[in-house]
Amino acid sequence: MTTPVNLLDFDLEGLAAWCDTLGEKRYRATQLFRWIHQRGVAEFGQMSDLARSLQGKLHGRALVAAPAVIRQHASKDGTIKWLFDVGGGNAVEAVYIPEDDRGTLCVSSQAGCAVACRFCSTGHQGFSRNLSTAEIVGQLWFAEHFLRRHLKTDERVISNVVMMGMGEPLQNYDRLLPALRTMLHDHGYGLSRRRVTVSTSGVVPMIERLARDCPVALAVSLHAPTDALRDHLVPLNRKYPIDELLRTCTAYLAHAPRDFITFEYCMLDGVNDSAEHAQALVELMRRHAASGLRGKFNLIPFNPFPQSGLTRSPMARVQAFGKLLNDAGIVTTIRKTRGDDIDAACGQLAGDVQDRTRVGVRIARQRTVALHQLAPAGAAPAPRKVSS
Ligand code: SAH
Ligand code: SF4
Repeated sequence: MTTPVNLLDFDLEGLAAWCDTLGEKRYRATQLFRWIHQRGVAEFGQMSDLARSLQGKLHGRALVAAPAVIRQHASKDGTIKWLFDVGGGNAVEAVYIPEDDRGTLCVSSQAGCAVACRFCSTGHQGFSRNLSTAEIVGQLWFAEHFLRRHLKTDERVISNVVMMGMGEPLQNYDRLLPALRTMLHDHGYGLSRRRVTVSTSGVVPMIERLARDCPVALAVSLHAPTDALRDHLVPLNRKYPIDELLRTCTAYLAHAPRDFITFEYCMLDGVNDSAEHAQALVELMRRHAASGLRGKFNLIPFNPFPQSGLTRSPMARVQAFGKLLNDAGIVTTIRKTRGDDIDAACGQLAGDVQDRTRVGVRIARQRTVALHQLAPAGAAPAPRKVSS
């Protein structure tokens, strides 16, 4: 018997093509897609208006399976972090961040990351493997329907998705694309392109492809105003230096759902946070603004982890840096850190599974704990409902 196909691996086009091989019409695929993504149903027998004949064909041939949750952490501020087992001793995380006007899910795209940024704990783990589409979209599928059950609502809870978890999404492009399309599709999660953000360390050719294939909101992790410094912090810069990256960002704007690119800038004490760095950044942005680049900056206070040897810039310096940019006409915000008590902040994800040689043992141990930690419905850690 062949291994069942995981239907979370398909966008609607893919599912329609697969259904076609079963001799099923497209509208059946749409029905199935809606049951899976809009209603969160994994059992074909529970898909009440699905033809019995199709249910019969699906049994044994297909399944709907998100990665298993190893552990759930709920922060005092409402943030929830899930650790998912993706097999082979690897775990990835997704984080739900409730705010007054939105509910954001931060999603992982790879187990580990090959870019190896100096300040990122995922980068320090090295690269394990690409997640499948099912593992990417499965994080959203699980979180959305988990939250709906706990909030006892049929309304959408997650209004925004940011590909800012573990991994470099644009180094896993072929699996990312169907996941994005499912997030956007009206029969899937129905999120608008401006509410789905891909964050990248700057994989230039793939930014160009994203512009053509699925131009969602783009965030670019810049972190430095010069190639010399960025080469050191984000090693991928040696391949795609700043000017080339920013020219690609300018071209992306013609397709983007917003009229600006978000630039992320991690504030590292004594490394990239001086007034001179801010001034150099202003000059860089001015030079590219002349060719049409529009960008906003998001300053991220560095989230330290022991092996990095780096420290967070003092808040006064982060504010001074932000003021310099704002005074020069570059809209700049400082990212609030959320979920601090559960290590849910950027670059801290799966911090406790860094030692990959021992992760299998630890996962096995955690799985036994997890069953108790997953609070029963009603005892959920009070996520807030958002209207979109
Ligand atoms: N690989 C993609 C997306 C995942 S990282 C990228 O690099 O953009 C998401 C964001 O968190 C990036 O802006 C990244 O630079 C930032 N980040 C990584 N480690 C961090 C840390 N320790 N403290 C603060 N931000 C960090
Ligand atoms: Fe990879 Fe992004 Fe971390 Fe850099 S910051 S190592 S690209 S996950």
